This record gives sequence, structure tokens and C-alpha cells, in this order.
Amino acid sequence: MKKLIVANWKLNPLTLAEAKELAGKIDQAPLHTAVLCPPTIFLGEISYPILGAQDVFWKAKGPYTGQTSVAALKSLGVKYCIVGHSERRVLGETDEEIQGKIEILLENGIVPVLCIGYGTTVAEDDMEVIDVLHGQLEAALSGGINRKKVVVAYEPVWALSAGPGQPKKTPTDEHIEKVALFIKTKYGIDKVLYGGSATSVNAQEILAQHHIDGLLVGGASLLPDDFNKIINTKI
Ligand code: PEP
Repeated sequence: MKKLIVANWKLNPLTLAEAKELAGKIDQAPLHTAVLCPPTIFLGEISYPILGAQDVFWKAKGPYTGQTSVAALKSLGVKYCIVGHSERRVLGETDEEIQGKIEILLENGIVPVLCIGYGTTVAEDDMEVIDVLHGQLEAALSGGINRKKVVVAYEPVWALSAGPGQPKKTPTDEHIEKVALFIKTKYGIDKVLYGGSATSVNAQEILAQHHIDGLLVGGASLLPDDFNKIINTKI
């Protein structure tokens, strides 16, 4: 079964030439569905079958200096958009904004990849994790959002890598399965991704989890050999 693998390049690479070079090294017809999310400013210049954005503004248009409209993303052929990443939440992104972003993306036929996650340290208690995720999901999916069209990425904040080649520990398979099942059964979500230090070494094990439909990959997506292995992982 094909999985969905989303590459979150974050603020990398720093130049258009490097971004083009990196995209050029990624397998264009991999075993799984691969989505590249380069920095917004490079989106129009990167050639890859499926592109995603790392963020969008929640208003359609108007006097909002520096923001990126959903219409602009659509005009560039963007098919997916990450929202609610923990690195944006710490910069002040609110639940209300996240909800608005999901709404406007769905109205425009772009699939939102909603990131939810807990804690800067490993939580001892799964119930504590579930509680926080519950709050994030309730807020983001309120207001009649069609949940079947939203992809949710579970990203424990403590598991996010420090960059390419610097993965941290990942949660146990049991924990990932339990959380993914909770997201699906409680919220009617069809697709749950795991994110946090996914690499070519652990991809097979994580992707083999019954309720995991793919990966959100940060650091390892900047390493073409690693990422090509991930998107071609046999399960
Ligand atoms: C992320 O930040 O979305 C992510 C998955 O990062 P990493 O793979 O580097 O842990």
C-alpha cells in the first residue's frame, strides 16, 4: 500500500540554486507518494511532480504585508500545505489561525497537513499526551471542517531532529500506534503521518505500523540518498 511521505525542508537550502539541485536529486517516480515542501519563495522555481507549502495565510486577500495567499499557492500548483507546525506554534501561531488556514486550504482544494504534537521531553504518561493532542485537534478541526480531507501529522516535539544527520530518539511503535488510532477513531481522520527523526534507518519500522499512513520528514529530507531510500521503502 502506497504511503504519503512529505518532505519539510524548513528554512533550507539558503539559495535557489541549491534548492533546485536538491530537488533534482529526488526520485521523481518513487514507490510511495512523495511531496516536497521547499521554502515558499522557491516554490515557483522547483520542478517536482507533487509540491507542498510550509504555511499559508488564513485570509484570502487584503492588506497583509509579507503573507502568502492560498490563491498564490494554488497558482503554483501546490497540492499540500503544512499547518500548525510546532516551530510555528512557538512563534505565536494560534489555534484559531490554524483552523482558519485549514478552512481556506480545503476551500481551495489544497490538502492541509495538520501538525500536532506534545512536549519538549518524553512524556511518561500516554494519557497526558492524548490530552494535549485532544485540545489541538478540537481547536483545529472545529467549525464543520471536512475531516476526511485533512491529513494529520503526529510530531512529538521532543523527537524532532536537530537537523540533517542528527536524529533523536523516536517513540516506541506501541506509542505511535496508540496515538494514530486515537486520532483516527476519535476524530474521523483517514490519514495519519508520523514525524520526528524519521530516517532511512527507521522508516521501514515506522511505516509498517498499521495505522500510520506515511511520514513527515525534516532533516533527512535534505539528504537526497536518505530521502530516496525513505520514499522507496519496501514494507
Ligand atoms: C519536522 O520538523 O516536521 C520534522 C519531521 O523534523 P525531523 O524529521 O528533522 O525530526
